[in-house]
Amino acid sequence: MIRDMKPVGILMGRLPHGSDLLDSLNQLCADTKVTLGRIEAIGAVQEARLQYYDQSKKQYQELRVKRPLEIVSLIGNVSLKENQPMVHAHICLADDEGNAFGGHLAPGTIVFACEFTLTRLDGPALEREQDTQTGLPLWKEEK
Ligand code: ZN
Repeated sequence: MIRDMKPVGILMGRLPHGSDLLDSLNQLCADTKVTLGRIEAIGAVQEARLQYYDQSKKQYQELRVKRPLEIVSLIGNVSLKENQPMVHAHICLADDEGNAFGGHLAPGTIVFACEFTLTRLDGPALEREQDTQTGLPLWKEEK
């Protein structure tokens, strides 16, 4: 599936110190009424909780890193799940020796400082629904 989208505005800002990174991004989209978009961020976290999807078990396993890390890169998208904007983001983090950790961003990653760029897109809504092949909530196919 491919949809044609147009960027219609870019919001930049920072997230509160001590907030949950994923919750704050979801709240940002709700507050600014962005239901379709792309998101990027850099900064640092106090600790991280990531997930890795086990494709054979069709379930997420957890990776917790309980120490300060740099956000080398966060990239994600915004679409609808059950009529609410939902951020799906992946993140790459680095420790004090430059070792990197990466994965699917999960609740439990705590902001130290975070600067985001949120691009609002205009186009047909993308809605998630449970996909039986992967077990993941993926975008609906075009009809
Ligand atoms: Zn993911």
